[in-house]
Amino acid sequence: MTDMSAKTYRAIQVSRPGYLEMVDLPLVPPGPGQVRIRVEACGICHTDAMTVEGGVTDIVYPRVPGHEVVGCIDALGEGVTGWALDRRVGVGFLAGNCGSCAECRRGHFTACRDQRWTGVHHDGGYAEMMLAQANALVSIPDALAAVEAAPLLCAGITVFKALKKSGARPGDIVAIHGVGGLGHLAVQFARKMGFRTVAIARGREKEGPAKALGAHHYINSAGEDAAAALLVLGGARVIVSTVTAPKAISPLVAGLAPHGRLMVVGVGAEPVEISPFALVQNDVSVSGSLTGTTIESEDSLAFSVLQDIRALVETVPLAEARQAYDRMMRNQAQFRIVLTM
Ligand SMILES: [Zn+2]
Ligand SMILES: [Zn+2]
Repeated sequence: MTDMSAKTYRAIQVSRPGYLEMVDLPLVPPGPGQVRIRVEACGICHTDAMTVEGGVTDIVYPRVPGHEVVGCIDALGEGVTGWALDRRVGVGFLAGNCGSCAECRRGHFTACRDQRWTGVHHDGGYAEMMLAQANALVSIPDALAAVEAAPLLCAGITVFKALKKSGARPGDIVAIHGVGGLGHLAVQFARKMGFRTVAIARGREKEGPAKALGAHHYINSAGEDAAAALLVLGGARVIVSTVTAPKAISPLVAGLAPHGRLMVVGVGAEPVEISPFALVQNDVSVSGSLTGTTIESEDSLAFSVLQDIRALVETVPLAEARQAYDRMMRNQAQFRIVLTM
């Protein structure tokens, strides 16, 4: 708990690429259109590597990473309407759209041409306090604890939205590739949305957890040809790939049913290679999906409460963010690590 008489707060900042350290930062009032949040929890996402490792986009250092943030509004900036002090709110990857570019005017808020990213362009949630644009805020239902809600704000909304727009209908075969931070939520969403749910991961160790989360079938991609196994089941209407190793994605295209769709939501650094033959032969498509709007996040939180979907989290105190981040990068996290303040 932050001492509110204090003029500083603790944060884990990236001083320069590769260097995460705990610092005291000055507490400043929110600017116009912003709120200040007393952070309670922040999930650690693979995309945090963009800030911690650097090199992907232009980032001004020092920068505080973290974009699965839940906390309470502690101060309101000028002109903020619709939000009140002490409201429990969340902030995801998109830090607020501009409202005036062509995409915003078309209502495509996630495609805003002046979109800022939380923890990349603005300081994020690896901290006791954070400033956020009011139009990036998500209301958190009382039924969800902060640590439960945090991973739903990036990992959760990403797969929830991808599944909703995938075109899959109840009973269709939907494969979830990767059973990690995103995948373990995707398996639950897919099952509760009424799809025949197939989990695909390397090795046998994820089979038990994946089935416990609702997968009807499990394919060990290290032990068998995953595309062939999908075809034995009838071919996937949709594959949602959550992995960050693009080489593992390419062969799966052959496991799609005719007119099937591969949706890529895991963000690896390398390109995904797709055989034109595989695309053409079955008239399949490949697409990406980027998180969602604030109201879509609220929809995914409401669906999680309705259907009893929860992220499996391991909580770690803020001070141990460095070690926790390193474990996530080595794929040693038990699904999702959430920092608590
Ligand atoms: Zn994320
Ligand atoms: Zn815009």
